[in-house]
Amino acid sequence: MLDRIAHYKSLCAELSLSDTPQSYVGGAFVTGGGAKIALEDPFSRVILTEYPDCGAEIAKQACAASDAAQKVWMADFTAAGRGIVMQKIANIVDERHETLAQVEAVVSGKPIRDCRVEVAKVSEMFRYYAGYTDKLHGQVIPVPSGHLNYTVREPLGVIFQITPWNAPMFTAGWQVAPAIACGNGVVLKPSELTPVTSIALAAICEEAGAPKGLVNVLAGLGPTAGEAAIAHDATRKVVFVGSPATGRVVATSAGKALKPVVLELGGKSANIVFEDADLEAACKGAQAAIFATAGQSCVAGSRLLVQASIKDQFVKMVADGMQQLKVGDPLDKATEIGPISNRRQFDHVTAMIGQAAKDGASVLTGTSHEADALIVPPTILADLPPGSDAAQTEIFGPVVTVLSFEDEADAIRIANSTDFGLAGAVWTKNVSLAHRMAANVRAGTFWVNGYKAIHVSTPFGGSRSSGFGRSSGMDVLMEYTEPKSIWVETAQVPRVAFGYAPSE
Ligand code: NAD
Repeated sequence: MLDRIAHYKSLCAELSLSDTPQSYVGGAFVTGGGAKIALEDPFSRVILTEYPDCGAEIAKQACAASDAAQKVWMADFTAAGRGIVMQKIANIVDERHETLAQVEAVVSGKPIRDCRVEVAKVSEMFRYYAGYTDKLHGQVIPVPSGHLNYTVREPLGVIFQITPWNAPMFTAGWQVAPAIACGNGVVLKPSELTPVTSIALAAICEEAGAPKGLVNVLAGLGPTAGEAAIAHDATRKVVFVGSPATGRVVATSAGKALKPVVLELGGKSANIVFEDADLEAACKGAQAAIFATAGQSCVAGSRLLVQASIKDQFVKMVADGMQQLKVGDPLDKATEIGPISNRRQFDHVTAMIGQAAKDGASVLTGTSHEADALIVPPTILADLPPGSDAAQTEIFGPVVTVLSFEDEADAIRIANSTDFGLAGAVWTKNVSLAHRMAANVRAGTFWVNGYKAIHVSTPFGGSRSSGFGRSSGMDVLMEYTEPKSIWVETAQVPRVAFGYAPSE
């Protein structure tokens, strides 16, 4: 096997980064002095590096740096000029595409074929939002007085963004690109377990011409660095991507400081197969929905709802198909399922499978020949009580729970029987039924005869325990700007007294 530590170090060198992750603050790399954090390659199980938590002080410096840089970003650049910088960011990401994908695969354990796609998506995100920098304009409103009333859309200031470990650079781009396109500064705290590509992205932003400090990255922990950045006076909004449990903690801290929050949390999405579906396509879709990226995807189709009349046949198709999936080394381009990204998550997934078996599930598994890696082979949990933990909560691994339904109403009832509302899908040839399911299943994103297509141009987010707010498409432009209403008196004799125009 490739020497993972040497490979990791040479990739960091190619990106001009220290192999001991550092925070990027005000255009400089800085090292904290907090608790040690280890980065373990989840496939080879070697410790790639250890680095100290940046802590609260560096987080405060990052917020101050972002505040200063945001003012420069608005004052010294034209709207179109900001777009040109964002185009350059996209170009540099493209130039470093393979190095960024490789380092992501080594640190997170995600298969290289997925990392390559995700890095390519990041440049796409910067190009997409580059086009909006000079199109964020207000309105002229015909108020019933002698005023010219117009609105402008202003950036908020500093946005603090918190991201998880499952798609590090993809999620960083998804958050940073619209925020800076709208004229904001950013402090980004990636997961302490996967900080490298986010640090690289921040340095690329500056290399492309963004002011020093416009995009800062904290290499550190939530309770220290994260809480300090939420509380900092310059932070105007908090955007959190992660688990519902941490989302509640973050929203509580932000609420105490009266700061608005966007929460992108987990899911337990229903992938619903009716008896009239193209079963071959639905089977491939069901596998991709849950087994791709080892199920470590917020939109994973983790509940497979199959019409009772075809349940046994369909479960057998999925089980047979999962034996063909290539499980193994994330750096092998043929690998479809790599390891679980970290030890804590591996323990969680294996404990959930064990508990499901105790709760009465039949457990069907694929195969893996990698004894030491943190690999969970693709797993089907059938005949599970619908109210059990594994049927209701997010496992975040390559584990699908199968539930059966009798008819349309039953499918909708079961699909909506968790507290999540992130995504869902239906497989059927009946167009009217497909539209009724799209209307009635609670989800921010819903697919008909497909799964997992997402794109920066369309809104993404959830409801209830899946969070609130949207972080892509045009909708996010409203999240990252606020309107200011300006009244200009134009009448020679103003008609407004005490704030009100007299009625005609
Ligand atoms: P997590 O909630 O444990 O951590 C997420 C981030 O929060 C990390 O950066 C962590 O350091 C930080 N954090 C922890 N405590 C904090 C605090 N007090 N203040 C500020 N930050 C703090 O999540 P995870 O285990 O890294 O990721 C997996 C979860 O993320 C899953 O539930 C998954 O569904 C969810 N997720 C959601 C989406 C989405 O868009 N809806 C996308 C990807 C992942």
